[in-house]
Amino acid sequence: MPAGLYIHIPYCHSKCAYCDFYSTPDSSTAPLLVEALITEARLRRDELPEPITTVYIGGGTPSSLGAETLVSLITRLRRELDLSRVGEFTVELNPEDVDRVMLESLKSVGVNRVSMGIQSLVDSELKLVGRRHTAAESLEAAGLIAEMFENYSFDLIFGLPEQTMESLEYSLKKLIELDAPHLSAYLLSYEQGTRLYAMMMAGKVEEASEETCEEMFHYVDKRLTEAGYRHYEISNFAKPGCESVHNSNYWNTTPYLGLGPGAHSCDGNMRRHNPRSIKQYLEALTAGRKSCVNEPESMENKFNDYVITRLRTEEGIDLRDLAGQPFGEFASTMTDTVKRLASTGHLTVTDTHISIPRHHWLTADAILRDLII
Ligand code: SF4
Repeated sequence: MPAGLYIHIPYCHSKCAYCDFYSTPDSSTAPLLVEALITEARLRRDELPEPITTVYIGGGTPSSLGAETLVSLITRLRRELDLSRVGEFTVELNPEDVDRVMLESLKSVGVNRVSMGIQSLVDSELKLVGRRHTAAESLEAAGLIAEMFENYSFDLIFGLPEQTMESLEYSLKKLIELDAPHLSAYLLSYEQGTRLYAMMMAGKVEEASEETCEEMFHYVDKRLTEAGYRHYEISNFAKPGCESVHNSNYWNTTPYLGLGPGAHSCDGNMRRHNPRSIKQYLEALTAGRKSCVNEPESMENKFNDYVITRLRTEEGIDLRDLAGQPFGEFASTMTDTVKRLASTGHLTVTDTHISIPRHHWLTADAILRDLII
């Protein structure tokens, strides 16, 4: 059985207007954070029941730490944790941090996959949501990544303010030309507490209509599928064999250990979460204490997580696998709802699988709400 390691770097050069991830532009605590991550790795290395097979350093913007600090962090992590079985080692980058030194440094410590947030290839759209990079910078960074890495992923956002079908087509065309092994495409959401939400409330930007979002989602699905990508999860597309192993493991309920402020962990029986506060996190770790809160995982929660994560994938729920799970008895709670949703075409049901047809993925949340207990 595999297991995953996630490391959260809570710093960004500046805050994007739509972002509600735990991150801050104030990186003055970065040296302390690196020390705390190493301490946390040491304190928690026995929590995973299985050997670590994937690593994902995300955030925030890990690349904002700079090449030297990232190399030092990864080198020291390797001394604390057994990473000898890791097959996929991903680091998230932003275009403004990508240069030859950064990429060579990451490769030198065993990183074999990078994921970069391009989001749009139209400068006015990037500017409106507070991205720091331009389309030209993204294209240059993407070229370097393609030259130096075999496995990489780029992110795109659709439903951006002022984005039109024409401008989305343009971004997508450019993105397809890059021929990345993996792409993620997310619908922009207006989360309360973000700058974008305030801009919307003040009438400065307008949320894309449901019809526009649907049209964009179907367009992205169609264009990327035609370009040889498999739409294997609601927001993820891969060339054959290039699916993200780390993320697929989350959907397959593989145990994972999350280190850093705001990071979550689950070993199959216990959920643990670190405070979404650099201050609280550092206070605990610099005193040599774990900062995570433990929350035993109930069978109902396990069942719900299983249903939610599996139905976001192309394969859906394998009923034989579900029957063998410790929470398999809850499958009967779905029977009537599954029949109803199948009769309206919102679910596809075969002898062995239940899945949400791709054309209903954008409204998957409503379907999932009906199925969980
Ligand atoms: S770079 Fe990513 S994590 Fe940082 S503020 Fe922007 S969207 Fe959020």
